[in-house]
Amino acid sequence: MHNDTETVTRAPEHAPINWVTTILFTALPLAAVTVVPWYGFTHGFSLAAWVLALVSLWACGIAITAGYHRLWAHRAYSAHWSVRTFLMLFGAMALQNSILVWGSQHRTHHRFVDDWDKDPYSAKRGFWFSHMGWILRNYPSGRNDFSNARDLERDPIVMFQHRFYIPLTIFMNVAVPLLAGWAVGDVWGVFLLAGILRLVVNHHFTWFINSLAHMWGSQPYTDENTARDNPMLAFLTYGEGYHNFHHIFQNDYRNGVKWWQYDPTKWLIAGLSYAGLANNLKRVPDLWIQRAQVAMQFKRVEKALEARRNRPGDEHIDRLKARVAEEYAAFRKSVEEWGKLRDQWVADRKQRLLQRWEETSFRLQLKQIEQGLHLQRRRLRAMSKASLAS
Ligand SMILES: [Zn+2]
Ligand SMILES: [Zn+2]
Repeated sequence: MHNDTETVTRAPEHAPINWVTTILFTALPLAAVTVVPWYGFTHGFSLAAWVLALVSLWACGIAITAGYHRLWAHRAYSAHWSVRTFLMLFGAMALQNSILVWGSQHRTHHRFVDDWDKDPYSAKRGFWFSHMGWILRNYPSGRNDFSNARDLERDPIVMFQHRFYIPLTIFMNVAVPLLAGWAVGDVWGVFLLAGILRLVVNHHFTWFINSLAHMWGSQPYTDENTARDNPMLAFLTYGEGYHNFHHIFQNDYRNGVKWWQYDPTKWLIAGLSYAGLANNLKRVPDLWIQRAQVAMQFKRVEKALEARRNRPGDEHIDRLKARVAEEYAAFRKSVEEWGKLRDQWVADRKQRLLQRWEETSFRLQLKQIEQGLHLQRRRLRAMSKASLAS
């Protein structure tokens, strides 16, 4: 069980203030809510400035989600050097530290999720800490340790960015907006909207993933950690709001795993792969996803039935519980069988020992099990609905 009161039971930690981030992340939002509207009222912004602000917001946002997060932190796919260069440059523009630091910290976040002392932005330490508090002080949990990022240290694009991070980020955040503004004849308008405002908006949208996406939403795949699925956050974060799925299957290039879930990062990666600019896209087998969902459904049904128990030894509830347990056991057995068959199939294919007809019979067996599973899931869902409703 999670101890949700932990956030208030532990004394606040007074780590030394990081003056660079504190001044920067105070001055930027202040400018965004004072200078930006003042300039808008007194001088007005050109249409070009608004368009450039949106374009840069998207470019930086995607550079973090498709680049920093799914490509580098999780290696969910591989990308052509031209794509990696683009993601590296706009990632530097997003001002969220270098790929190496970000990727290493994020791997620590997944490994020790919710751990007060080890997760660099543990949601157990409250909204403020997980949103941006962790950046403003030098907490022991935020110490750099690149031993989990040796692969990133071998990537020349990552190391180039790490070495020249400060000049790169100044170039992308000052020189590029000023140059673009000069090109469209609205230097200050573009600088304020595509430079300052874009930076602040992008920061908070990204930070929502560490704060809100660990507090607000549903848990369809796991309740072993605080991560939540939240379509509203997915809308603001290019698909990263499906964070419950992401924490259980972190190497999948999709976060919104269903085809209808809003995940433009997933669509971009699939599009790049179609164009030959990305490959090695990782997906977990659909059945593993179903297994996680069914396990959660089962837990919920059990809880709901337990809550409806009026007196000890309530026979009606016991009967229902037994039926659900039976159904769940059957489901797990089928999944296991499916897994074994699939492993066998993969192994045999590797050895090239299979005759064509055998392969067909394997596929047929797999298909049959999959169909049976589909029916079992429907029965389980119906039972869970019935037990929750009545
Ligand atoms: Zn997380
Ligand atoms: Zn992640």
